Amino acid sequence: MSAPELNSVPIPARIQTIRQLTADTSLFRLQLDDDKAFPFIPGQFIQLSVPGGGEVPISPADLPAEDGTMELCVRRFGHVTSLLHQSRVGDRLGIRGPLGNGFPVDEMAGKDVLLLAGGLGIAPLRSLLFHLLRHRSDIRSLTLMYGAREPAVMLFKDELLDLAATGSLRLLLTVDFLSDTGQEEPACNVGLLPTLLKGVRLESSLSCAAVCGPPALYRCTIDELLQAGVAGDDIYLSLERRMKCGVGICCHCAIGQLFCCCDGPVFRYRDIKDIPGAL
Ligand SMILES: Cc1cc2nc3c(=O)[nH]c(=O)nc-3n(C[C@H](O)[C@H](O)[C@H](O)COP(=O)(O)OP(=O)(O)OC[C@H]3O[C@@H](n4cnc5c(N)ncnc54)[C@H](O)[C@@H]3O)c2cc1C
Repeated sequence: MSAPELNSVPIPARIQTIRQLTADTSLFRLQLDDDKAFPFIPGQFIQLSVPGGGEVPISPADLPAEDGTMELCVRRFGHVTSLLHQSRVGDRLGIRGPLGNGFPVDEMAGKDVLLLAGGLGIAPLRSLLFHLLRHRSDIRSLTLMYGAREPAVMLFKDELLDLAATGSLRLLLTVDFLSDTGQEEPACNVGLLPTLLKGVRLESSLSCAAVCGPPALYRCTIDELLQAGVAGDDIYLSLERRMKCGVGICCHCAIGQLFCCCDGPVFRYRDIKDIPGAL
């Protein structure tokens, strides 16, 4: 078999800024050494290499920028992401990609688009949100439903409220529970994310939904989406699996006959609903 030419050499980059968002999650702005735009579709991912650690799959949280910058919203999780969180401005990293398929943004034209983000799932959906806002006149309506465990871990809240204030986006926020302080969160519903969908009616042929979050979110959201009127073909799920190569060779991320890295990470519900263990 010939060696895959696809995105196998990391592009060098350095950390330009680090903004801590919560106790374990930061927004890293990278500057690619070649100062050129790094093209990708929202929902695609990169393999980020951290020197001395290894590679991890991360989805860019913004849009491709002409000046070669890229924002990554990363939670400290294990070995590599902890090393990244110890990094400082100016430190060097590598970027391999773009990898995977991304969200089918062209199919969203003319539709009522629902974005459903749970927890860190807001990171790739922020990129899709920015894309849809840039092409807002192409779609009928745009709604973002975002659920976090508690107010302290809700990411990008002020930014999202500012965007919603422009009128181009309907924003519904929810938290699983309020913090012990009992502090009110006026802009937030309290309850699990699917509760936001209860009672919503959508026109089947004109609606689509992009979902990203922990596995439990998919299981409880899909029924609500189907009941609300979204067709299984038009529910796009961004799945997470352990990955190594990112290009369909190592088989670490198999989902039945499919690979999360190169057939996904975005899948239509219709295509994976019958694969055991997919959801
Ligand atoms: C398509 C995709 C996009 C992602 N986007 C983001 C993002 O924007 N922000 C973010 O914080 N996290 C994201 N993740 C999850 C992130 O890749 C894991 O948290 C990270 O790989 C954990 O690595 P670690 O070395 O810190 O942890 P360890 O547990 O020490 O990881 C060991 C190895 O297992 C693999 N691995 C572990 N957990 C995962 C996982 N959940 N998914 C895939 N591989 C894993 C990695 O290859 C890693 O080298 C994404 C995952 C995928 C698949």
